[in-house]
Amino acid sequence: MKNFKTTIGLEIHVQLATKSKMFCRCDNQSFAEATDDKQSVAIKPNTLVCPVCLGLPGALPVANKTAIEWTIKTGLALNCEIPATAKFDRKHYFYPDLPKGYQISQYDEPFASRGWLKLKVKSEKSTVEDEVTIRLNRIHLEEDAGKLIHKNGTSLVDLNRAGTPLMEIVTEPDITSPAMAGDFLRKLQKIVRDVVEVSEASMEKGHLRCDANISVRKLQVPSTQYRGETEIGSELGTRNSEPIKMSQIIEIKNLNSFRFIEKALTKAEEKLKSEYPAWPAKLTKETWGYNSNNDSIYLQRAKEEAADYRYFPEPDLPPVKSAEFDLDKLKELTKENMEVKVAKLQEMEVPNQYIAAIVSNRGDFELFDKLVSEAGIEYAPEVARLLVQKSFGKTTDFSDREISELAKLVVTDTSKKNLLSAIKFILSGKSFDDAMSEINQNQTGEDEILKIVEKVLIDNPAEFARYKVGEKKLFGFFVGAAIRESKGSADPQLVNRILKEKL
Ligand SMILES: [Zn+2]
Repeated sequence: MKNFKTTIGLEIHVQLATKSKMFCRCDNQSFAEATDDKQSVAIKPNTLVCPVCLGLPGALPVANKTAIEWTIKTGLALNCEIPATAKFDRKHYFYPDLPKGYQISQYDEPFASRGWLKLKVKSEKSTVEDEVTIRLNRIHLEEDAGKLIHKNGTSLVDLNRAGTPLMEIVTEPDITSPAMAGDFLRKLQKIVRDVVEVSEASMEKGHLRCDANISVRKLQVPSTQYRGETEIGSELGTRNSEPIKMSQIIEIKNLNSFRFIEKALTKAEEKLKSEYPAWPAKLTKETWGYNSNNDSIYLQRAKEEAADYRYFPEPDLPPVKSAEFDLDKLKELTKENMEVKVAKLQEMEVPNQYIAAIVSNRGDFELFDKLVSEAGIEYAPEVARLLVQKSFGKTTDFSDREISELAKLVVTDTSKKNLLSAIKFILSGKSFDDAMSEINQNQTGEDEILKIVEKVLIDNPAEFARYKVGEKKLFGFFVGAAIRESKGSADPQLVNRILKEKL
C-alpha cells in the first residue's frame, strides 16, 4: 500500500536518579535500586515513605532543587528554551496508588520547551544517511505515583515509588516510522544516561517509559496542477476541497523495550492502513496494548474522552525562576562531561578510534575505568580494544569482585580470549560465577591437552626428529596420536593449536 504518511509522537517518562524524592526527603527508590547489588532483596513495600509522599493532611511539599536543575540541564542538552519562570500545578485524578488524589505536575509553564534532536536515518532510496530533526514540545517535571500489586485476588499498594521525580519529555509528531521512533528513543536514552547523567534510563527497570501516538494519512498522487505532494487532512488538502480525513489515532502505552515499541507501532501502522478508506469521519483516539508473546496489539480502551484534570497552580510551592540556576554553567557541564572523559582516555594512550565508542556509553566507560584501575594503566589500550570489539553496552552491573576477576583475565596469557568469552557468557544471561567456572573448565581442558601433546612428542622421538628436519606431513600423525591418547575427548582444533605452539 503506497502513498500513506505515518505520524508518530512520543511521551517519554524518565525517572531521575536523585538521592531523595521530588517533594520530601525520603530515599528515592530509583536511586536505591540503581546502587543496590543485583543479588540483594527488593526494598520492603511502604518503607520509603513519610507524611508528604503519603499525602497526609497538612504535610507540605518542598521542591527538590537537584531534580529541577537536572531537568533544566536535560533541556539545555536537547536545545530547549528555558523560560524565566516555571511553576508546579495540581493534576487531579482518582487512582488507588495516588494518595493525595492529585499529582503535582506542570501544566502551562514547564521548565523547558521548544527543543529539538537531530537523528540520522537510513534513506529509503540510497545508502546515504539522511538527517531529520525531531522537535520537542516540552520537558516538564512531576512526581510519580505508587505501584499496585495484584495478588491472590486482592490488590495491595506500595507507595515507595510515590513522589519519585519524573521528567516527561513530549515530542512533536515529527516521527514518520516505527524504526525512527526506536532510533529516537535510543538516542534520547544515551543523552539522559551518558551525557547529562540524570537517570539510569533502563527500560527494563521502568526508569524510561514511553507512550506512543500513531496516525496515518493518505497522500494524493502528485498531479501536474500542484507541485509536490498534497496531503488529505492537512491544510494543503483543503485547497483541493477534499474532505479532511485521516485515520484515527492509536495510543500505545507502557512499552518496556525499544524492540516492543517498534513492533507495536508496526502492528498499529498496518492496522490503520488496512482500514482505509473506512476511516472514521471524526478523529478519535483508542488505547491499545501490545502482547509480546504473539506479537499482536489488543484494544484496551475505545474512544477515550479527553480527561478533565482540573489543573490549578500548586498553592504550596512558589514559582521557580530560572535565574536561580547558572544556565551557562549547566550547559558547560553537559559538554565538559564528555571532554573530561576523552582527555582521560587520550592520556592513557587509548587509540582514537576506540575513544568515541567508550565515552558515548556510561556502562562501557565505567567498566573500562574499573578494569583499567584493576589491571593497571599499561593495559588501557588493550582493555579499550576488547570493550569496543564486544560493544557491551549494558555492563554496569558487575560487582567489585567480578571486576577484579575480569581484570585478572586481561593480564594473563590467554587474556583476550578468556575476557571475551567471560563477557559473552555473562551477556548471554549466565551468572558471573557460572561464566567463570565454564572458563576455568575450558582452561583445565587446555592444560590437559598440553600434557597429552607433550607426552605424544616424548613417546614418539623418531617422528619428532623427522618433523623437525622438515617432514611437515607428520603433523597429522601427532594430532591423531593426541586425540587417541585423550580417548577421543580432545577438541581437534585445540589440539592443532597447542601442537603448533609446541612444535
Ligand atoms: Zn516522603
